[in-house]
Amino acid sequence: MHNLCMPDKRKSCAACCGLMNHSDISRENLTGFLNDGNFRTANYWRYQIEGSYPEQTTSCRDDFTHICPFQGFIDDGLPGCLVHPQVVGEDQRDMGLFGAIVCGRYLCPAYEILRHETKAILIENLDDWYLYTIAIIDPIATERMIDRLHEEGLHNGDEPFKQTLDSALAIHAKKLGKRNGNVFCYSREEYAFQYKSSPENLKCVSDPFPESPAGGGDLRQR
Ligand code: SF4
Ligand code: SF4
Repeated sequence: MHNLCMPDKRKSCAACCGLMNHSDISRENLTGFLNDGNFRTANYWRYQIEGSYPEQTTSCRDDFTHICPFQGFIDDGLPGCLVHPQVVGEDQRDMGLFGAIVCGRYLCPAYEILRHETKAILIENLDDWYLYTIAIIDPIATERMIDRLHEEGLHNGDEPFKQTLDSALAIHAKKLGKRNGNVFCYSREEYAFQYKSSPENLKCVSDPFPESPAGGGDLRQR
């Protein structure tokens, strides 16, 4: 099974730590939040004593979904857990609301929904944590994007494939950012329900590139 959480040292994901519960899921806002991770972790007692968790102090998509304060960059371009045993030498994840067992065992819908081949393509072709996270949180749209790139004759591993996938995911991030409600679902059932109940999502799957990912002309005219 592919490790989607941190497949290599070039990218990783922290969506299920609550990162994508921010109303503002722009790269800039999430980078700022992750950059503050070490400060939050050093001052973790505040969350326990004051109860001032990030979801109580920032604008959220879902007020009942936790944004764990212990997320941060564990290395350059690698979002992750700042209280993970491989980061601090001992398992401190029980300081968090989910606890070490849940944190250690949870697998998101992308693990079930993405094809084995697609997981390998994402790992091979993406080098950027933000775009990678966008691919993970919306696996149905991601599958469709990959299919479209192949339909257009682009080949995994080639530079045009990588650039077009990056651009498509950047466009998709903007679309998701404008969506009301959750952009990350904790279960496959929740994700399926969200898709079925949103014409916007279904439209996205039928045509993930209404505009060119490169910003000039329809992909089909290339
Ligand atoms: S959202 Fe999925 S891929 Fe990302 S860290 Fe959680 S389980 Fe791993
Ligand atoms: S304690 Fe759990 S939820 Fe918090 S950052 Fe670590 S893995 Fe994520």
